[in-house]
Amino acid sequence: MLLLIPGPVQTRPEVRAALAQDIAPWDNEFKSVFAEIRERVLGIAGGIPGEHATLALQGCGHFIMEAALRTFVPAATAAAPGKILIPLNGTYAGRVERLAREAGRQVVTLALPETRPAAPEEVAAALAADPDITHVAMVYSETGAGIVNDAEAIGAVVRAAGRRLILDAVSGFGALPFNLAEHPECDAVMFTSGKCLEGLPGIGFAVVNVARVVAAAGNAGSWSFDLTDVYGHAQRVGWGNFRFTPPVQVLAAFKVALDFHAAEGQAARLARYQENSRVFHQGMRRIGLRPYLDESVQGPIINIVHQPPDAGFQLQNFIDELKRRGVLISNFYNTPVPTFRVGCIGTVTPEDMARAVVAVDETLAALQVRRRSA
Ligand SMILES: *Cc1c(COP(=O)(O)O)cnc(C)c1O
Repeated sequence: MLLLIPGPVQTRPEVRAALAQDIAPWDNEFKSVFAEIRERVLGIAGGIPGEHATLALQGCGHFIMEAALRTFVPAATAAAPGKILIPLNGTYAGRVERLAREAGRQVVTLALPETRPAAPEEVAAALAADPDITHVAMVYSETGAGIVNDAEAIGAVVRAAGRRLILDAVSGFGALPFNLAEHPECDAVMFTSGKCLEGLPGIGFAVVNVARVVAAAGNAGSWSFDLTDVYGHAQRVGWGNFRFTPPVQVLAAFKVALDFHAAEGQAARLARYQENSRVFHQGMRRIGLRPYLDESVQGPIINIVHQPPDAGFQLQNFIDELKRRGVLISNFYNTPVPTFRVGCIGTVTPEDMARAVVAVDETLAALQVRRRSA
């Protein structure tokens, strides 16, 4: 089966094999594994040892995003409240908004079309218009429509305006470049074990600015989601320790995934995903379907395609028939109009994507979907 979803992704058998063991989290052998993971992840983030630190939480990307928002942005009720600007060009940015609002943080959104990246000037203008904004929380690669926001240029705008950046890099970290050493405005960059790093799902990471995480003490209003507490715990008892029981097997597998990431190289991994995306995007057009994005703004992580307007097309049917042909994709979509979504990440190659194009073509033929685009 070819798994083409934007996380959890298709993994290597060597990564999955690392699950098949019993592990005690406090065992010195395991502690050295986690401590090493922290160092290696810091390196991938371009962090400076001592200035930046890798903090981890059990669970999914939403959990680590909530933790970062709570930790770095003081609540609306705080003596000096924070205020978050969210460039809103996709449903995952909308998730950041919901996490922040439900945590009682002040939020202002910058509504943008989801079919292009946010322009740095738009963010600069929003920051200039509201001096109370303390933070920009941005999604790097939008999983909703598939565009990639320019973290480099928007980070520079945030820096110039004297504000702070919280970067949801969950979908692209390990492929899309981001170098913390060059982003002193960044409080934290977030990602998970199960997307472009090609591990299994279960761990959320935040690589944080140490001075900022220390200064954020008391903000979180939650023990579970307090990254200052995660940092303090590591300082007190050592970098191989978790506060609460971690998914130890997933961490063991993640270390193997990091070995493959190092062997492939980040630039080569990005190039592979870009080629995966290009092959699929062009393949869709060739078989008469209409990609949601223009090819000039199509990101490497996920492709969104308009559902055929044919009355005979039904998404779950299509997914089931496609699965019968060996390709598994999401059975939902995140765009205002009906689409289907196909991940381009994980241990998949351009040849796999070409196979997926053929499978989509054959599936539509089998389902007698004749009108493929409007
Ligand atoms: C996958 C993803 C998340 C987190 O999703 P979880 O299901 O909570 O792991 C957050 N942001 C983006 C952009 C994502 O693609």
